[in-house]
Amino acid sequence: MATTATRTTTDCLHLARRMRALEPSATLAMAARAQALAAAGVDVIDLSVGEPDFPTPAHICAAAEAAIRAGKTKYTPAAGIPALRQAVAADYARRSGIAVTPAQVVVSNGAKHSLHNAFMALLDEGDEVVVPAPYWVSYGELIKLSGAKPVLLETRIEDDFKLRPEALRAALTPRTRMLLLCSPSNPTGVVYAPEELGALADVALEADLAVIADEIYDQLVFDGRRSPSFPTLRPGLVDRTVVVAGVSKTYSMTGWRIGWTICPEPLAKAIGNLQSQETSNPSSVSQHAALAALTGPQECVAEMCRAFQKRRDLVAGRLTAIPGVRLPEIGGAFYAFFDIRSALARGRGGISTSAAWCEALLEKEHVALVAGSAFGAEGHVRMSFAASEEKLAAGLDRIARFLDA
Ligand code: PMP
Ligand code: GLU
Repeated sequence: MATTATRTTTDCLHLARRMRALEPSATLAMAARAQALAAAGVDVIDLSVGEPDFPTPAHICAAAEAAIRAGKTKYTPAAGIPALRQAVAADYARRSGIAVTPAQVVVSNGAKHSLHNAFMALLDEGDEVVVPAPYWVSYGELIKLSGAKPVLLETRIEDDFKLRPEALRAALTPRTRMLLLCSPSNPTGVVYAPEELGALADVALEADLAVIADEIYDQLVFDGRRSPSFPTLRPGLVDRTVVVAGVSKTYSMTGWRIGWTICPEPLAKAIGNLQSQETSNPSSVSQHAALAALTGPQECVAEMCRAFQKRRDLVAGRLTAIPGVRLPEIGGAFYAFFDIRSALARGRGGISTSAAWCEALLEKEHVALVAGSAFGAEGHVRMSFAASEEKLAAGLDRIARFLDA
């Protein structure tokens, strides 16, 4: 009795060890702050979160409405409706030239969930995963949740933030199990050339690594580039690669929460089993919307991509004209990741970190960016250019004024 009387709620609700080091998503946190300020009447320009600003194309929304009316509102198979798995396989095969079967596809609640599933299905306690930095905020946390260890490998702006094969080779240990690649990259917008990816593939093959290829931005590439799917680069990669993609970015469908993995069938089956226990199927209505996205007219993708390229021109042009600001060549996605170390070195206002710089920018100029430290690259900041040209121009004016102040 005495023990129950002295126990407090905090004793019984103490957090599991895996939660103690878990950071919330910095991108989502900054977006929430910007939204709260906007709701309070502040004229905020939110360039923090990476989310296309276009409405989801009308034919996709219509397919979702039709699915609701047709009563497609029940559980579906956990790994997704057969028609969508088929459509993902067909779309991937058409664009990559690699034949895949629907059984190799698992549809999940967004590509973030797909990544989580892949890590949970493949990684054991103590396994090491090589992650080139700057990296997308969620990679490290999701890897840690699986019990494995992210090995963060710094890359240099001089190399356009690309991982070099010799750096990968030098990071290998007997525990290295996996390589994680993201091209086009969030947060840098950098797109690896096929030969650069091929050289990394050679190391992965030599060292018998599994590879997660996050190709969620593969259709948002500029200047006539193509972003080849990783398994196309060398024979043998199909058997060791999990391709992650989804509709969030390509079709401006972030809120619908549909992403997928494409991988060898036994692993796909395991991921499907995991998902059947974790979340069951992703939203039935969203799956029908995603099916319409993949099988319907594709002009909307080209249109959005053209708009992103115009914005890239505006943003890259304006940022490179600011003395001391450096950024790599943005070949795809919708991010500018720029170096503010010369501004930080001046130490004005006692600001010496990217996080403090972003705080001050938000406070003084009401522009929301995300600190490079959240992406493992202190001294830099990320600006999303998934916003109208007017907003971007106004945001850039404020950033330039802030850097000049
Ligand atoms: N990978 C990368 C590189 C991303 O930028 C995102 C977007 N947050 C995701 C995965 C997850 O996308 P989704 O919205 O489908 O979960
Ligand atoms: N990919 C987006 C970003 O990096 C979405 C936010 C998130 O999922 O964390 O801003």
